[in-house]
Amino acid sequence: MPQKHGTRGRKKRSPYLFMILAAILMTALVIVGARAMNAWNLYETEAAVTPTPSSTVRPISVTPDPNRATPAPTNTPAPTPSPVPTATPSVLSVGSQGQMVKDLQTRLKELGYYEGNIDGDYGSGTKAAVEAFQQVNGLDADGIAGQKTLSVLYSESALPKPGPVDTLESAIPLLVNKWNSLPAAFEPKDLVTVKSVVGSLMTYERNDIQGVREAAEALARMIQAAINDGVSPWKLREGYRTIADQRRIFNNRVNTYMKENELTRSQAIARTRQSVADPGQSEHHTGLAFDLNVPGQSFGDTAQYIWLKQNCWDYGFIMRYTDEKDDITGIVGEEWHVRYVGVNHAQRMRDLDMCLEEYVEYLSKQ
Ligand SMILES: [Zn+2]
Repeated sequence: MPQKHGTRGRKKRSPYLFMILAAILMTALVIVGARAMNAWNLYETEAAVTPTPSSTVRPISVTPDPNRATPAPTNTPAPTPSPVPTATPSVLSVGSQGQMVKDLQTRLKELGYYEGNIDGDYGSGTKAAVEAFQQVNGLDADGIAGQKTLSVLYSESALPKPGPVDTLESAIPLLVNKWNSLPAAFEPKDLVTVKSVVGSLMTYERNDIQGVREAAEALARMIQAAINDGVSPWKLREGYRTIADQRRIFNNRVNTYMKENELTRSQAIARTRQSVADPGQSEHHTGLAFDLNVPGQSFGDTAQYIWLKQNCWDYGFIMRYTDEKDDITGIVGEEWHVRYVGVNHAQRMRDLDMCLEEYVEYLSKQ
């Protein structure tokens, strides 16, 4: 009996089971279908914003912050929904993406202004290149590629980037500060990797730190003399920095202040300026400045600093930023920052007790 009932019962239940299964299956199909439609709609939206062949849509970031866990759209401008390229050129600026940006980067590279990747992302490197191009070509240097800039850029009269500058040629040392900016297209002549000149006399924050050859050779002589006097170890933290590097450092700091201290952009810029030079106003662009360091110690407390302060002059270096002269230099004391000016200038500056601003003024009155 139970067997019979069982058999009969199973036969009776099976249509219900089938219906339940079918219902579940249909529900699942509806959900999957809806998701697929949603994904397609999203894809279409993104494709419209960024008409790039790549299907991966990256968050646009002016300054990629390695510490940022999620790509939150905090300080970066929203992507400008650029329309499909038409006959009239659009305005391209930081945040723009796509083929028109690739064309812009290609042309800037052709003229020597851009050294980054042709990736279609208008970031800080592209902006710096546009600014340099504008400055050299007598346009408003705002880093925005508007109609006027684009028409000059693609014309035959577009001026290429000027060649590198001999930073040690002038009788008066090159002065870079808050009031004397270097042009955006500036590049020093005769750059070398400091390590290739100074070798194992010191260690390096990065192996590719560069400097002007004559300054790097003077640095090698100076560090060797210090070691001979029993003063070591030495580490090189920073040398030549491009204007694009400086822009990245500056923007990173601004973004950090905005995010961590909840400052407005203008407040964050003001705070950043207390410790980071504006692009074009850092002496590191000259290739003649080096930041020295003793691993694990505050440089101002070291024997290396005492030695440097006494001896750097005889190797052509000056202590560029001291607390005593910060009202003239505009920079608070930086014991670790030395600047190469050549032995004659350095010794005279020591004897006259002048900072570079005073000395340049003094020389120009002679
Ligand atoms: Zn420095």
